[in-house]
Amino acid sequence: MVPACRSRAKYNYSEETRNGQSPCQYCGKIYRPQSIKQHEASCKSHQLAAKAREQCNKEYEKDIQQGELNALVLNFLVLTYMPSNSTTMGHINV
Ligand SMILES: [Zn+2]
Repeated sequence: MVPACRSRAKYNYSEETRNGQSPCQYCGKIYRPQSIKQHEASCKSHQLAAKAREQCNKEYEKDIQQGELNALVLNFLVLTYMPSNSTTMGHINV
């Protein structure tokens, strides 16, 4: 014997499924209408955090590259302007 409330719950579920599922606008996953809002709220912050992290990594890489470039330029300048017979090589702080 099946309780009446249970069959109603089942009906509601199939009704929701039939009424369409909404893709999350951030990750594209399909969610039921009553859970899409909640998911999107958390998904949005996840995506933003991931983007921020990505951006941060890019900035970091750029800094590293810039640092390497500066070191190259510095080496070049030192080599270029250093007298070939200099004995002060050990005193130059790079
Ligand atoms: Zn999502």
